[in-house]
Amino acid sequence: MLRYSFLATSILSALNFLLTDVFVVQVILGICLVVSLGIAIIWPEPLPPPPSPDLWSEAPKTKEREMKICSNCGKAVDQKWSMCPYCSKKV
Ligand SMILES: [Zn+2]
Repeated sequence: MLRYSFLATSILSALNFLLTDVFVVQVILGICLVVSLGIAIIWPEPLPPPPSPDLWSEAPKTKEREMKICSNCGKAVDQKWSMCPYCSKKV
């Protein structure tokens, strides 16, 4: 599909190239024609579909860690810890 759009671009460039009289425009269109035609010819495989736009909106949920409450200061402490990082008492 992308190939065909490049092909269309090259055709449009060729048409514009024929219709314009301005030299700079001719140069630009010539470059555009060569590049787009080249891509249309040598394009190897259709690209994989772009990642869905909502890919990043669904951030992986922060893994719920096992928490326990420090008996001394009442803050949530990781289950694996034996010492409270806030009050450095044993949990
Ligand atoms: Zn504590």
